[in-house]
Amino acid sequence: MASRIPLAATHVADLTEAWAHDLRAAPTTERIAVLAEADALRRAPRDPDDSWRVIAAYRALVDRALEGPEGPARAVFMAEEDPARDGLTRRFAEVARGAPGDDGIRGACAWAACAADDRDLRAALARLLELHHATDDRADAVAFAVLHALAGVFLRQHREFEALIVARRAADVARRAPDLSPVDRAHAAALLARVFVGLGDAARLRAHLPAMLAAADAMDEPDATRARAHAHLLLSRAAVDDGDLETAATALADAEAILRRDLGTPGFGPAIVRSTALRLAVARRDVPALERCLAEQPAPRGDDQGWLVGLVALATARGDADAAIAHARRALDALGGARLAPSTRLARAVAVARAVGDGERTADLATEAWHLAADAALARLNELDRSVREVGALGPLAADDLDALAAHRARFVASHREVLEPLRLRLEAATRHGTLPPWATPPRGDLLLVCAWCLSVRDRDGTWLPVGHLVYGAQSLPMTHGACPRCLDELAASVRRDVGDPTGFSAG
Ligand SMILES: [Zn+2]
Repeated sequence: MASRIPLAATHVADLTEAWAHDLRAAPTTERIAVLAEADALRRAPRDPDDSWRVIAAYRALVDRALEGPEGPARAVFMAEEDPARDGLTRRFAEVARGAPGDDGIRGACAWAACAADDRDLRAALARLLELHHATDDRADAVAFAVLHALAGVFLRQHREFEALIVARRAADVARRAPDLSPVDRAHAAALLARVFVGLGDAARLRAHLPAMLAAADAMDEPDATRARAHAHLLLSRAAVDDGDLETAATALADAEAILRRDLGTPGFGPAIVRSTALRLAVARRDVPALERCLAEQPAPRGDDQGWLVGLVALATARGDADAAIAHARRALDALGGARLAPSTRLARAVAVARAVGDGERTADLATEAWHLAADAALARLNELDRSVREVGALGPLAADDLDALAAHRARFVASHREVLEPLRLRLEAATRHGTLPPWATPPRGDLLLVCAWCLSVRDRDGTWLPVGHLVYGAQSLPMTHGACPRCLDELAASVRRDVGDPTGFSAG
């Protein structure tokens, strides 16, 4: 380190782990000198590379960097800029949120972005709501940071209703605040887009695309190009969820073309490009695209759901039932065990059910997948209705917000009905053969049974209650789908009526 090149003259690519290691091992005087260089760069950032140099220096000097009167300012800078979002970022954020005044507010926002688990998220939410009420009348970068962080926490908790309200307010502040940078404005546009993806609202996202592209245009290159490509990728994902595969394909092609043409590399966010392409390939049952996506993607760690669904779809398309069954089994086990949001579980269970198909050997797996999907859809409706009850705490809602919320709920009610249909067809077929599956009438216990036909609910003690009584209530017992005695009787009667009519029932 004795012949160390000054920080400002060190190429960013040379700030390696080895550099950090040497610096940590260097004498105190030298470390203090590097820190002083980094502080000077932080205060006068001209070259976009400077902030990376500062981050590398601070990460190498973390304890020293937090000492003294400069500590909180360094911590705020690091908490906001450090892309690692790891334990070290959290450490910076913890120091930053203790800083006085606006620095402390920005530190709290950065800490929320590093929240590691549910408990952290709840703590971050409570703090951000407090800060939001305290900055309610402001239209500046600090008020924007609070709204941005708050919407991010709601999104991570899959509370898209609340996220939408707050993201709209963030966009409003971004329009009015004089001290916001083009990057902040682009973040505001991207935040609203992420909310629309969470809501599965491809129509609103498509309408929002010009605003995203305009915000991207205002940034410096290469960030502008990356943001443009990202906008198209988000549209592609929302369009797949919405079943609009043509728009999804166009948007994906647009993103890939931008990355190839304007950056000369498909290298930006390869993970999001690959996972978007894979989702589209599964939805289209496009065998060459599936083969390409799965070959390009490095083997995922653990049970990556998107990857497993892709494998099921490919095996089914190739007629390889053994492989399809093995992959589907793994996917369903992973879905049942993972702590996934109900919306994610619903989408993946439907993807497995569709990918595995209703072949003679795969029918049971498909039934299990539809069952998982129906239960997830119901849990999702419960979540949404809890959100609707609580969203009032955020203040009055705009007319378009109410429309977006109503449309979102209507989509989930429809998808709940849709995923119940395969279960009903299976119960009808079973009634015809006199072999009702055990899941149709599970024993009573700490489980609410919802009738797949009339949506009435069997309570813990066996009482059947009309629809809406418990399902959309505040209870938190797990729910599953089956059939109530009345609907089973009607089903049996209709089967008796249909005897002799070979077209009366379809086995689905
Ligand atoms: Zn019923």
